[in-house]
Amino acid sequence: MAESDVTGSMEQVPFVDYLVLGEEPYLRANECQNCQARFFDRRNACASCFGNEFTNVKVATIGEITSFTIVEMGPMPYVSAIVDCDGTPVRCTLTGVEASPEAVQLGMKVELTTYSMGEDSGGTEAIAFGFAPTK
Ligand SMILES: [Zn+2]
Repeated sequence: MAESDVTGSMEQVPFVDYLVLGEEPYLRANECQNCQARFFDRRNACASCFGNEFTNVKVATIGEITSFTIVEMGPMPYVSAIVDCDGTPVRCTLTGVEASPEAVQLGMKVELTTYSMGEDSGGTEAIAFGFAPTK
């Protein structure tokens, strides 16, 4: 009996459509077939070369922090960061780390994590992603 298996039959939906859920969640990007630029939003044309052919690619789930900001809004401060995942910059919220300039360093290794944002009245759970320091 696995204690972690508490999801039951509850339906889970990703909070953003480029988050792919499953055993090992990952982020999906649209990669320009012409110049390999990657975008998370849907585009009709590449911002770099105006190419219009894209393929879905899986983005590395481990990366390094290349910039971050401590956001002091709302009840809890949090860290908003750009993580370089093997060449793909990902804007995200850091989790599992204190929101202070001392706790976060540039170049810090982080990995993709997912967390629940709560469920609606129909029992559908929204899942968001963040990045947490690797252990
Ligand atoms: Zn392009």
